[in-house]
Amino acid sequence: MREFLPPGWGVQGERGIAFVIAGPSGAGKSSVIAELLRRDPRLSFSVSATTRPKRPDEVHGRDYFFVSREEFLRLREEGKLLEWTEYQGHLYGTPREEVERKLSAGRDLVLNVEVRGALAIARAGIPHPVVLIFLVPPSWEELVRRIQARGTESPEALKERLRIARAEIKEIPKFHYLVVNADLGEAVEEILCIVRAERRRLVRWSG
Ligand code: 5GP
Repeated sequence: MREFLPPGWGVQGERGIAFVIAGPSGAGKSSVIAELLRRDPRLSFSVSATTRPKRPDEVHGRDYFFVSREEFLRLREEGKLLEWTEYQGHLYGTPREEVERKLSAGRDLVLNVEVRGALAIARAGIPHPVVLIFLVPPSWEELVRRIQARGTESPEALKERLRIARAEIKEIPKFHYLVVNADLGEAVEEILCIVRAERRRLVRWSG
């Protein structure tokens, strides 16, 4: 490939790309991401830190780093978080070092964050391409149904998640891609197409 390109040029896939998957609660981000990681071995997951209690099916270090509020605040103070947010009373943040280490090693990274976090990552100035993908359920009705189906939500928590979702939807135009998750397999297939296309995008490396 090199021989066809002028000096300094390449394709994005030669270096790590950050694929940020955001969207309202109930869009199916976690299921889509689990399947993406299974289907494409070049993708790795950016494990966030959170103060939220662990759910029974979650594993420390795989799904999240479950930390105390005190520990989270210390990480934040020390500048170890690329971005952070408070969501429904719990703190969530992206560990800077892990992201930079994986991207610099040429790994493509998948991040599961809420919408403000996605936009913050795009603004954080990391020296790697950041691709913003917004995932939505097929309809409002379906979004409500999916959140209710979790069964872990109190009526107040459900109302709050819907309020947040309405605000998040307004940010769609700031993203690069919109994927509808009506069928898990199809949504994953579409995101894999985006991943492959982004790897082939021509770029002029600045350094
Ligand atoms: P959950 O508690 O359901 O796992 O996550 C709640 C929300 O927090 C989801 O929208 C998820 O994408 C988001 N989230 C998880 N980790 C991070 C993070 O590191 N930063 C930000 N901004 N949001 C996160």
